[in-house]
Amino acid sequence: MTATYTREYWEARLVSLSLEGRCFINGEHRHAVSGKTFVRPRPMDGKPGAVLARGEAADVEAAVLSARKVFEAGVWRLKEPSEKKRIMLRWAKLIRAHAEELALLETLDVGKPVLASLNVDVRLCADGIQYYAEMTDKLYDEIAPTGPNARALVRKVPLGVIGAITPWNYPMIIDCWKLGPAIAAGNSVVLKPAEQSSLSAIRLASLAVEAGLPPGVFNVVTGYGEEAGKPLALHMDVDMIAFTGSTAVGKLIMEYAAQSNIKRVALELGGKSPLVVFADADLDAAASAVAWGCFYNSGETCHASTRLLVQRSVQERLIEKIEAVTRNDIMLAHPFEPSAQIGALVEQGHMDKVLGLIAAGEREGARRAFGAERVLSETGGYYISPGVFVDMTNDMSLARQEIFGPVLAAIPFDTEEEALRIANDTIYGLAGAVFTRDMDRAHRFSEALHAGTVWINTYDMSNFATPFGGFKQSGFGRDRSVHAIDKYCDYKTIWQQFG
Ligand code: NAP
Repeated sequence: MTATYTREYWEARLVSLSLEGRCFINGEHRHAVSGKTFVRPRPMDGKPGAVLARGEAADVEAAVLSARKVFEAGVWRLKEPSEKKRIMLRWAKLIRAHAEELALLETLDVGKPVLASLNVDVRLCADGIQYYAEMTDKLYDEIAPTGPNARALVRKVPLGVIGAITPWNYPMIIDCWKLGPAIAAGNSVVLKPAEQSSLSAIRLASLAVEAGLPPGVFNVVTGYGEEAGKPLALHMDVDMIAFTGSTAVGKLIMEYAAQSNIKRVALELGGKSPLVVFADADLDAAASAVAWGCFYNSGETCHASTRLLVQRSVQERLIEKIEAVTRNDIMLAHPFEPSAQIGALVEQGHMDKVLGLIAAGEREGARRAFGAERVLSETGGYYISPGVFVDMTNDMSLARQEIFGPVLAAIPFDTEEEALRIANDTIYGLAGAVFTRDMDRAHRFSEALHAGTVWINTYDMSNFATPFGGFKQSGFGRDRSVHAIDKYCDYKTIWQQFG
């Protein structure tokens, strides 16, 4: 099947693709109340792409009203669990049936290779909706222990209206991490996707209604963070904000919650994850994990392994191997090329920011081993080659700041204690990894690393059964797994006394 996916195939599909850029509220596409729009440039070539509704407070108001109405009416919340399951499963099936279209929308918006969009992002989105669909008829309430003359029901009830605010790096995957558990639990959702990546969210919403989800359960308001995200987070009738994005905006979300109705918040924020390689490790496996862990998705990954901590005696050999994997396996090309493993960065402004951080790092004395340069500029697109800086110290800006581009900072260490101290010396705590053949050390190190996920002798492995989220300023609350349902529910006790 993949053999048919030539660049020409995608170019031809693009010509016939309709780019729906309006909000989706109460089961229908709507222009912004103000009539304002904005144009999204295509990261792959810089040409103008979709025209999107520039939603503001009035659009948020309409979306929250429709979400509240359907919640209170109980048309979804009180539906037979098996019927909820059937509808959500149909939704997952429709996502798979429209996989090529969704992949194209995702790639147009964010510039990642279309085959990655197809085989990873769309697939995992459908899998996520299916995972939570299958939970809908397996959620039990509790009866608390009491004396014989009482019965205390401990009910798990949906919160009501959930505001989801999501980033642009894995739009469909992160959207489904919120939508799946929130909707399975019986809530209504108003999603504000990143301004860079609205197309797949709008299509997901129309497919949900086609699958049978009642209008109003899943609404999308497109637009800018300040204009659409902020009124959503400040709204007095929104019960919770499920946010994924930067730590800086995560802090604002907490402030908005405090300034409004003390709504709950769950925050999936930034990272600067350490991957620690001891001299006794399988260096080939480590090199592959480092390169893919840091450079996949052009480094626009919250848990990218951007800090390589390597035992000094093997630094040189490991960097050579990382360079070989990067040059031979991680092909950077136009996102429609079947050979592309990584494509463009999301937008000009982000590319300029990444190049600025690289230049600032060099001014501080960071030594470039290879890459980390703008390439393919003749295409008009926003491409940076994967690159490595060596002999770094953990106080240099390339080792401390979340760059969100294909840039690795390699920091040598001598002892296990030193490695642990450097690994934990960050405001973030999203993920980390340790490579060693000594399993005692591997487990000792994993326990001591302050991170929501730790991998041993691998990187970025996961499935829907494993919770994902951070420690420290990487946020709180977990996406994925059965535990994700909890944050979209509250406990309600109903005590009945018999005489
Ligand atoms: P961002 O700038 O924080 O934006 C995230 C979302 O918040 C976008 O929808 C954005 O809208 C919106 N927003 C911006 N300002 C807002 C405000 N004042 N009020 C309400 N909403 C506002 O992050 P990003 O650049 O899209 O994504 C990259 C960041 O996300 C990185 O830090 C990355 O580590 C993090 N991330 C974390 C995880 C995780 O699971 N921990 C996963 C993926 C990404 P606009 O689009 O208009 O800016």
